[in-house]
Amino acid sequence: MSNNILISNKGPVLSVVVPAYNESVGIEKALTEIISILFSCKVDWEIIVVDDGSKDDTYQKVCRLAQFEPRIKAISLSRNFGKEGAIFAGLEHATGEAVITIDADLQHPPVLIPDLLEKWQQGVQIVHAVKRARSQESMEKKARAYCINKLISGLGGININNSSDYKLLDAEIVDIIIHQLPERERFYRGLTSWLGFKEEYVYFDVDTRQGDKSKWSFLALLELAITALTSFTVLPLRIVTILGITTLVLGITVASEAIWSLFTGQAVSGFATTIICLLIIGSFIMISLGIIGEYIAKIYEEVKQRPLYLMKASVGFDERIAEKSL
Ligand code: UDP
Ligand code: MG
Repeated sequence: MSNNILISNKGPVLSVVVPAYNESVGIEKALTEIISILFSCKVDWEIIVVDDGSKDDTYQKVCRLAQFEPRIKAISLSRNFGKEGAIFAGLEHATGEAVITIDADLQHPPVLIPDLLEKWQQGVQIVHAVKRARSQESMEKKARAYCINKLISGLGGININNSSDYKLLDAEIVDIIIHQLPERERFYRGLTSWLGFKEEYVYFDVDTRQGDKSKWSFLALLELAITALTSFTVLPLRIVTILGITTLVLGITVASEAIWSLFTGQAVSGFATTIICLLIIGSFIMISLGIIGEYIAKIYEEVKQRPLYLMKASVGFDERIAEKSL
């Protein structure tokens, strides 16, 4: 290390949090690349790999690397809690004055780390890395991301267009996320956009994924989209109310016409129309119940107050931090 490396009294200046689930194929290459960039950054650093209940030997590989580089730390979660839980575990254990969250598959280019750091050193508290081009991604993934982003931005009122989980957060922001946003169901990308504070953007092109394919199944993505939406807006509930009022007005109109036809002596006709109306109204009711159910399920999850993750092992943390995580 050269003499002008920035060393903090409290701990490292920079913590890099890497959630990893079944990343055995590429984790060593990813960490090596991240480390080579960190060496050029002239700040004291630590890397925290959160093994999110991998079924392969991701954790063992990280532990092996940690023997040679003590600034690599690892947490092993008791099962797969999902990326949100893994990121949260990493944030809770990070001791840096700034924390970067980055994927383990090199789709978030580590070369951007100095840019994120530079913005932070200029006083920016949240630096979002935003995807500039998705040229390497499949049409299906592009369409999926577009729909989810538009839905959340449009209904939720927060701008997450093309933003990723690749971010730098000042320690103060990390503290707020951990202690002042106690919700169980989390959407990291949305929460960091909702916070406010001084934020800036840096742009990157998405690389093709190294290792095997994406860990997100369609259902997992759908769940994330619902979590994201219900975390930021109650607009779907309002839409249910508006739909209810609209069908009520329509119902009153049709009923008035039917009553009027009694006086004029015309028979009320339209069996098919009645069935269609019943089916449409019935499906409105079912969808409405589903939407209300989503919010009730959310309340249920929040009331349980279960931890976002459970740890079964860790490597590289001192006693003080180990106690904090218990
Ligand atoms: N990941 C995780 N837990 C999960 C799914 C994914 O920690 O349940 C990690 C994964 O190892 C990677 C990052 O989250 O480091 C992004 O996952 P992936 O590349 O599969 O998602 P995509 O790039 O398709 O959004
Ligand atoms: Mg990826």
